[in-house]
Amino acid sequence: MQTNFAPELLADPETARSEKILRSCVHCGFCAATCPTYLLTGDELDSPRGRIYLMKDMLEKNRPADARTVRHIDRCLSCLACMTTCPSGVNYKHLVDHARAHIEETYARPASDRILRFLLAALLPNPRLFRLALGAARVARPLTRFAPGRLRALLSSAPSRPIDPSDVDRPQTFPAIGPRVARAALLSGCVQTVLEPRINEATIRFLTRHGVETTVAKGTGCCGALTHHLGKRGPARRAAVANIEAWTREIAAGGLDFVVVNASGCGTMLKDYGDMFAAEPNLAAPAAVVSSLVRDVTEAAANLKLSFTGAIPKLRVAYHSACSMQHGQKITNLPVELLTRAGFEALSVPEGHICCGSAGTYNLLQPHLAMQLRDRKIAALRATGCDVVATGNIGCMRQIMSGAGAAPVVHTVELLDWSTGGPPPPAIERALLGA
Ligand code: SF4
Ligand code: SF4
Repeated sequence: MQTNFAPELLADPETARSEKILRSCVHCGFCAATCPTYLLTGDELDSPRGRIYLMKDMLEKNRPADARTVRHIDRCLSCLACMTTCPSGVNYKHLVDHARAHIEETYARPASDRILRFLLAALLPNPRLFRLALGAARVARPLTRFAPGRLRALLSSAPSRPIDPSDVDRPQTFPAIGPRVARAALLSGCVQTVLEPRINEATIRFLTRHGVETTVAKGTGCCGALTHHLGKRGPARRAAVANIEAWTREIAAGGLDFVVVNASGCGTMLKDYGDMFAAEPNLAAPAAVVSSLVRDVTEAAANLKLSFTGAIPKLRVAYHSACSMQHGQKITNLPVELLTRAGFEALSVPEGHICCGSAGTYNLLQPHLAMQLRDRKIAALRATGCDVVATGNIGCMRQIMSGAGAAPVVHTVELLDWSTGGPPPPAIERALLGA
């Protein structure tokens, strides 16, 4: 694609990078075939190529974002299916990140939008505040049906019962059981610790059982992805710096063989820290080291000598590959291979490359499109005839669970933990084992 940026604009490294990305697009349109929003609306401006044109026009002229551009960029899930499909290697991710930050800086959103985005950015990355907000949402639950669209989606996403925090999410070190084969830091995260604390518990049981000393480092928390995707660079950067500094201290104190992540949305973000801070002399090296150590829990598992008990029922598991897993991190077959080795029957899911509509805060900001994608995903999962759905991302889990008719949904690591001597996942116990 031909570009026409003024030389003074190209002095900015991010603009220079975006210009390079734009030039790599040959506007072939192949990406439209796998874009979920184009699939739903049929509007070229809701396709990757259409959005690329909008972003080019905005960034090239360095003009404030307009309502039309914002509407179509806001509808983008950042699922990155287009990056998997693109034959020219267009880095859509970095381009849309730049566009979102530009929108945040130059566009005056309507007040209701600003308030909702402010609340999401303030509450979700902070487990204590998020827990309080869920308590308030539970009290307001009877009023849900009177609430307007997006507020209704927000209120109805709150769990109906309080969920106790888990002790494992406090900073501490869990010794390896038996001879130590590795030392890892676990990103305990933010939303996941509030909504599904059992995932970190299963991860720690699984890792320590296989000889991995696992630490939850003081000072770590949200990876920054939630605010990053809202275009809010300041909070995203602060979260990333806090994690980099905390793990750099861990490396100096006890060494780290890897940083384990069990939410693929966070994993994609952590693996990008090196790129995010490449131009900052003080942070470039530590950020690159941290990114190089990051492993999804299935990648960590693949490097361990796993001891399966062989004592689990041969359940039919439909593995839902989160977009951040398959498109963001290019982890495709590994989770299925591990589940098969564990003794489950892994089923392939039709339209497996299409997003479930969760996409961080997307399901709260764009509920209309998100619900259509969710229902389509649930129909595809049901078509497999599975007993259980497994996935490696908290957002997808909650999104699929929120729809009607889905099989029990668990995290992949819960199945790996169970098949190597841990307890059955509560969702399976309730639904299938009659507990
Ligand atoms: S597939 Fe790639 S090169 Fe073709 S239009 Fe889409 S982004 Fe551009
Ligand atoms: S990231 Fe996903 S929704 Fe956005 S343009 Fe690419 S394929 Fe479409």
